[in-house]
Amino acid sequence: MLGFVLDDIFTSGHRSPSGHPERPARAEAVRDALVAAGIADRGRRIPTRVASDEELARVHGGAYLDDLVKRVPGNTGWLDADTYFSPGTWDAARSAAGSTCQLVTDVLDGALSQGIAVVRPPGHHATRDRAMGFCLLNNVAAAASAARARGAARVAIVDWDVHHGNGTQDIFWNDPSVLYLSVHQYPYYPGTGAPTEVGGDQAKGATINVGLPGGCGDADYAAVFDHVFLPAIARFAPDVLLVSAGFDAFEHDPLAGMRVTHGGFAAMANRLRAIADRTSAGRIVAVLEGGYDLDGLAGGMTSVLTAFARPAEPLPEIAPLPANMVARAAIEGTLAAHAAAGQPIPPATR
Ligand SMILES: [Zn+2]
Repeated sequence: MLGFVLDDIFTSGHRSPSGHPERPARAEAVRDALVAAGIADRGRRIPTRVASDEELARVHGGAYLDDLVKRVPGNTGWLDADTYFSPGTWDAARSAAGSTCQLVTDVLDGALSQGIAVVRPPGHHATRDRAMGFCLLNNVAAAASAARARGAARVAIVDWDVHHGNGTQDIFWNDPSVLYLSVHQYPYYPGTGAPTEVGGDQAKGATINVGLPGGCGDADYAAVFDHVFLPAIARFAPDVLLVSAGFDAFEHDPLAGMRVTHGGFAAMANRLRAIADRTSAGRIVAVLEGGYDLDGLAGGMTSVLTAFARPAEPLPEIAPLPANMVARAAIEGTLAAHAAAGQPIPPATR
């Protein structure tokens, strides 16, 4: 049974300044699309809850959390040039992290088989000690740590948001039990995510970055998944697979320059659903990150629901390396960096 997190606190609780792209309408668009796609009949909504102090302390520093508690609850303001807060933001942020932890824990326990968390504010730019890029608390990182605390030996996080998830990378940089894989526009905000960023001394190879040039589309992303992500995940054999599901690589997204279609998101979701069946007993949870075109958000997350709520489809033929030479070089650069680090990624296989 698929479980999902969907609550008005993620729309009405976190109110954006006029004109800000990270706005409540994003989560409303996803909610409306999932409801229209029959999510209530295809899964079970889990109660929203705030993260415990312990859950947050696993991924954020004490001084940072103290500072948030002092500044954010009940107030309006900015934590950096991009990252606002409104009076309800603290409750929304703690609920986003806590509910995502609960969802992943329920999947690990076997009460649920897959999960989708439609939460705001997003999380993957929040580092251990800093809010940035619209993110205050790192939801997917908190959930990965909750999974570890619940007994998972290994957790993999695939981040297909168009921006590099610098916060998630930062939090697990030296942790060999969490495999972090990101495909992103590069160079681009936030500036990190070079192929040579492969993890710290204790965790060489457990961070995998593919930085694609702007203009890439479905075929390029399929190649990244087939030649880098799926072989790496298969070798790592995570107990649960998490997805930082941003939809700002969408062809009409106003904040970035990729050309992924609804079908492209479906192809990524189907691949991950299939690899989760092979390596993780089907345990997979997607967490909303960015995405600023409402149609991209609605269609993208509906594709995730479709992929997750049915039995895994067989993997398609291995996608060819991209015709775009810059994209092809990006994939080859990642493979070369990991080989140089003594952690070669196995060849594509089915
Ligand atoms: Zn993004």
